[in-house]
Amino acid sequence: MTETPANYTTAVSFAEKKVVVLKDLESLYNYRFSQAAAWAPIEHLHQEQIKLGFVPTMGALHEGHLELVRRAREKCQKVIVSIFVNPYQFAPHEDFSKYPRTFERDLELLHSVGADAVFYPDEKLVYPNGKDKITAVIPPTPLNDTLEGEFRPTFFRGVATVVLKLFNLVQPHIAFFGQKDYQQWKVIETMVKDLNLPVSIVGVPTVRERDGLAMSSRNAYLDEKARQEATNLYKALSTTKELMEGGKKPLQAADEAAKLLQESQGWQLQYLKVCHAESLEPVTDSYIKPCVIVAAAKLGEVRLIDNLPILDLP
Ligand code: AMP
Repeated sequence: MTETPANYTTAVSFAEKKVVVLKDLESLYNYRFSQAAAWAPIEHLHQEQIKLGFVPTMGALHEGHLELVRRAREKCQKVIVSIFVNPYQFAPHEDFSKYPRTFERDLELLHSVGADAVFYPDEKLVYPNGKDKITAVIPPTPLNDTLEGEFRPTFFRGVATVVLKLFNLVQPHIAFFGQKDYQQWKVIETMVKDLNLPVSIVGVPTVRERDGLAMSSRNAYLDEKARQEATNLYKALSTTKELMEGGKKPLQAADEAAKLLQESQGWQLQYLKVCHAESLEPVTDSYIKPCVIVAAAKLGEVRLIDNLPILDLP
């Protein structure tokens, strides 16, 4: 694991890499307010005003993250990426301390896709009084409590709180989220709507490995055998879709695909469900579009999530 040198406390160009590293509030604000139009809904900006795109991440970047940056580049004149492994969204038994941290490599990748700046705060900046003393954002039920929320009850509170804080700090016009974390994307969209935040949310389709496995920083935890097995999670989603297209009811289709997954090596399935694409309420009896097939499973100690949106209207 490598870090930026300790004296990189203000806005600097990182060696020749040109991605500006912003580590404190002063450098963030100086950069933010010199580079792009004031925070306002995108439809209220003049065409010539500079729009700021924002991609929040926890680092350990891969092609999935880079695709978000590319999309931001297409739509915005300036792009800031944040890298912050948010302790508030990890439960005590989860992998916060071993989560991969690869800052220098991340910077190189960000440079290669043309990000302008990276906001890289430390924990003290984000949680000056400690994470447990922050004013929290609690997404509404059932979005907060179903699917991921059932297995990670404080996860979306942690995500929504940090994303709201990052939005207030960075003040982006458009923020980009991966559909890979489908429920998270819906939580953020809901927060933005409910709290009238002047930011547009774009959901970017999941980037996959050649064999279908959704890219994820946590794939680095998989050993060779588990890596081969991991592709079966996406296969289970695809099988569910095929069974529904063949006439099976969503509940039956999901149960059948779940059985196939459980029969293969080392899986502990947490859920495999067909849900309404917006509300995430379960769809059981008839194949209604738009819907999304969502799944989470542990493969050994590694927890994987994936989904397959079926968005085309009938
Ligand atoms: P993370 O660093 O895991 O918090 O992810 C940061 C952002 O990248 C989130 O909006 C994720 O949904 C998105 N992301 C992660 N993996 C992928 C992927 N395979 N395809 C598209 N977006 C992704």
